[in-house]
Amino acid sequence: MIGMVIGLLGHRRQVLTLCVMSALSAVLQGAALALGIPVLRESLRHDPGAAARWLLPLLAVVLFYWLTYAVAENVGSSMQPPLRGRLFDLLSDKILQLPLGWFDGTRPGQLTTLISRAGTTTQLAVSAVLTMSGALLPPLAVVVGLAVFAWPIALTVAIVAPLILLVQIATTAPTARSEAKEAMAEAEAGSRIIEFTHAQQPLRVSARADKGLRSVEKALRERHSAARQHILRTALLLKVSGLAVYLGYLAVLVVTVLLSAHSNMDAPTLVAAMAFAIWTLRPISDLPGAVLVWQSTRRSLQSIKDVLDEPTLPEPTVDDAPLPGVPLVQLSDVTFTYDGGTAAVRQVELTVPTNSMTALVGRSGSGKSTLLHLISRFWDVTDGRVLIEGVDVRNMSTATLMSKISIVPQDVYLFDDTIEANIRVGRPDASAAEFAAACRRAQVDAIVDELPDGWQTRVGAGGTLLSGGERQRVAIARALLKDAPLVLLDEAASALDAHNDAAITAALGQLRQHRTVIVVAHRLETLTDADQIVVLDDGLVAETGTPADLLARDGLFAALWHERERARGWRLTS
Ligand code: ADP
Ligand code: MG
Repeated sequence: MIGMVIGLLGHRRQVLTLCVMSALSAVLQGAALALGIPVLRESLRHDPGAAARWLLPLLAVVLFYWLTYAVAENVGSSMQPPLRGRLFDLLSDKILQLPLGWFDGTRPGQLTTLISRAGTTTQLAVSAVLTMSGALLPPLAVVVGLAVFAWPIALTVAIVAPLILLVQIATTAPTARSEAKEAMAEAEAGSRIIEFTHAQQPLRVSARADKGLRSVEKALRERHSAARQHILRTALLLKVSGLAVYLGYLAVLVVTVLLSAHSNMDAPTLVAAMAFAIWTLRPISDLPGAVLVWQSTRRSLQSIKDVLDEPTLPEPTVDDAPLPGVPLVQLSDVTFTYDGGTAAVRQVELTVPTNSMTALVGRSGSGKSTLLHLISRFWDVTDGRVLIEGVDVRNMSTATLMSKISIVPQDVYLFDDTIEANIRVGRPDASAAEFAAACRRAQVDAIVDELPDGWQTRVGAGGTLLSGGERQRVAIARALLKDAPLVLLDEAASALDAHNDAAITAALGQLRQHRTVIVVAHRLETLTDADQIVVLDDGLVAETGTPADLLARDGLFAALWHERERARGWRLTS
């Protein structure tokens, strides 16, 4: 664990000083106690002079103990802030570098737990060193002292103590397992709660709110039972190890009785040795606690290390220069496989001319979102190339790539801030006129007119005050304000109300006049407006062409089109 702390967080000198000082103070504490043996013995022999002679070294040892312990504690507490600071720096730097695709599934929950515990992890690491040396070393020093005065009793302790320790280590292993299970259940419950609160809108629209709630309840039940199992197991095992300590006491008493019968040790020696031997066994019962702290700190450090060791996407030091006159986006022979799965998209060829609108269509799971994510480099392609302005996205820095792309995701996340601030994220230095124009085009004015505080209305965490369609309009305004040539838009798959539907159509129409747009299309209006339709089927490009061409071909696109028409309950007249 100490190696891990130094490896992760540096501060080698302070960490080593802490270890040396706490070990030294623990040994001195033991030595002070060991010096109590002759003091007690001489007192029982009614020889205060001899007893007093031992008091002077005892006093010196106590002073040194106090001094080293104070230094250890001081080093321990003064290195807290820098260690914590370093840990947060490392984690936040890493979060900024991790591929965007990393943040899915249970990751946000794990990360939340990890970061909220990071502060206590460094504290635990320090207290683990102190408690471990405090539990282990003083008894050792006392046993050495006992050996001088009554070696058979020292020998008994030397045999019994490791046995007790073995029992205790054997009993802590299962608690480590149940603790790990509890931690996993807790992360899972955290993720389900985050998902449930974020996905209220889609869940309700699809009338599945109770299903979402059920998965939260299930996760909470599992967490509860994991916690219960951990507590019960820990309590039981602590009782077993407590019993081992009492059996150790008994062994010391038996040996003392035997010595009184069969040796020529006097009563004061026997009494003093027995008293301190019994004392020695007591701190051993602190060891399981210390071992638990030690192990759980190690696990926390390991999970931090795991996140820090996650591979990041390599970045070039210099960007390749964009090529003039090439189509804005080109995908050539692109194949992508999520970890261990089958390919989500295969051998995709796609050319998106500058200032055009391309609609991606296909059944759920056909790879539409994956394709958008590859263009914005959430992940790197497994095979093939993604080119923007003729440059492979892998040969662009993240900053360059992000300056060329605006993303309007299916489920828009807004910051808990005002509407205005949320749109200005697109380009903080935009003028008032530019801001107003973007909002008008994206039809955000209409939303704002209805809100109590106008532009200064706060949208709530994640933007929950607005409906899904309204959030998408805010995100489109953000994209219009940002001067990026390419907009990637993942349309809401669920039906929008008529008002939002019309507003989104209008906003999209504005967007395509000024930008190159690639949209995962679910609405008939978007499909009729597109310059080019790309139909995906199980990761492969099945059809490409204009809406009219593809309808005439009467293939997969025509089938999807008619499905959607029926769902809408009306027909377009040709
Ligand atoms: P669409 O957007 O067309 O519904 P996706 O691009 O989301 O489809 O998914 C394509 C395929 O990749 C699906 O089989 C889906 O299960 C899989 N997939 C999507 N995201 C992930 C992920 N993060 N990890 C593993 N598999 C994924
Ligand atoms: Mg999708």
